[in-house]
Amino acid sequence: MLELHDKEFKKTNCLQCANCCKTTAPWLNDQDIARISKHLKMKEQKFIEQYLEVGEDHEFSFKLIPCVFLMPDNECSIYNVRPKACREYPHTNRRRFQQIETVTIANTAICPATYNIMEALKNALPVQYSDNGGKPREKFRKGGG
Ligand code: SF4
Ligand code: SF4
Repeated sequence: MLELHDKEFKKTNCLQCANCCKTTAPWLNDQDIARISKHLKMKEQKFIEQYLEVGEDHEFSFKLIPCVFLMPDNECSIYNVRPKACREYPHTNRRRFQQIETVTIANTAICPATYNIMEALKNALPVQYSDNGGKPREKFRKGGG
């Protein structure tokens, strides 16, 4: 999986896309809030009030989409101190990648690189055989079963 991630991101130019910054709000943890508010020379409480909201899951995220820190040329104006969730997005290089497969499938609708990685993964997987009859599952799918 890591190999597929690295291969895809070698040819992906995120500055031509920025769709994640335009369509989804990252979560921010306490360290993110401390680091970014310090960078902006703001009190943490003021930063929270101005930029963040708390979701049903009690996590902080940016209030606005597209992100207010996204610039017209798709650069991030707080790149060096951006949230951990932004640094790690789309998480396709996670060691235990299978633990976040639902998120990854959802990300295929947002991130073209994730879509390509999942397609490459599908092509790399061996055909699986059923245990009754020995026919490839691929055949069952094609037959509508
Ligand atoms: S903080 Fe930067 S990387 Fe994160 S969503 Fe905003 S513009 Fe994108
Ligand atoms: S959506 Fe994916 S390809 Fe586009 S900028 Fe974000 S990480 Fe890069």
